[in-house]
Amino acid sequence: MLTFTFLGVGGAFAKRNFQSNVLVEAWAAGPHEQAVPDDTLLIDFGSTGPLALYQLKDKPGFRYLDAEGTIRYPAIRRVVVTHQHSDHIGGLEEMALMNTFIFANSDTRKPFKPQLISSVNILNDLWDQSLKGGLNTIQGRYALLQDYFFILSLRPGDEGKDRFLLLKRYRISLFPTDHVQIERKYDWPSYGVFIEDTLSKESVFFSGDTRFDWPAYAPMMERASLCFHDVQLTEAAGAVHASIGELRTMPPAVKRKTWLYHYGDEWDSGPYDSVPDEFAGFVSPQERIQVLP
Ligand SMILES: [Zn+2]
Ligand SMILES: [Zn+2]
Repeated sequence: MLTFTFLGVGGAFAKRNFQSNVLVEAWAAGPHEQAVPDDTLLIDFGSTGPLALYQLKDKPGFRYLDAEGTIRYPAIRRVVVTHQHSDHIGGLEEMALMNTFIFANSDTRKPFKPQLISSVNILNDLWDQSLKGGLNTIQGRYALLQDYFFILSLRPGDEGKDRFLLLKRYRISLFPTDHVQIERKYDWPSYGVFIEDTLSKESVFFSGDTRFDWPAYAPMMERASLCFHDVQLTEAAGAVHASIGELRTMPPAVKRKTWLYHYGDEWDSGPYDSVPDEFAGFVSPQERIQVLP
């Protein structure tokens, strides 16, 4: 079984919800049969991620994330990075430092290193432009990204090199998204996530951050049993997310299986009350959802 738990569901500037990062748990049996999942992966870990995980660890079913009152970071085995905005990567410095200084192996003193997964270009830029400032020096020496993480670099768009497996069963692949353009489409790297259960052939679509691009995503969204799409509720010029008006133009059958996330703090102000009638609904934060058998 594969489950999603959104640490938060808010957009980059939301204050009433944590940012849209997802804890993906893979279970041989299921959360009712086992207290700890067999594999764990975060899709992004933004600047509100640490506080969101800190809150989640006290909820029933998530106690394996607790380490005597703080976050048990080694419970997070892998992190997929969709793009470099801080609502998606801002928690990685804390994760790396706590895995190095709090959760180092007590015998060898070696840090706990989760797997860090993204495209080659994002992994390079992530270090050079974002993480290097806080992580390249440890007392007495310099450090590199691979001192904190085992690195898995994928080649999205290159079939076979764009994917990896969880529990030898769930095939996770990255696809390019049209989030921010410098001069042309796809010239600033950002990715969505498509997960297929190789046994049941069911699949899940997760948009990442993107502008509306139905022609690009339709084959995946029509095929998937569940879809998660980012949404911007208030229309704005130059938006870098799909607006609710654009998402409403999708076929009714797709809308009904599409959950909206990455929304602003105005979601419950009235005009969006009909969202659950038209779409699957707004994703609720910190609730475990089964997405694949
Ligand atoms: Zn975002
Ligand atoms: Zn973004």
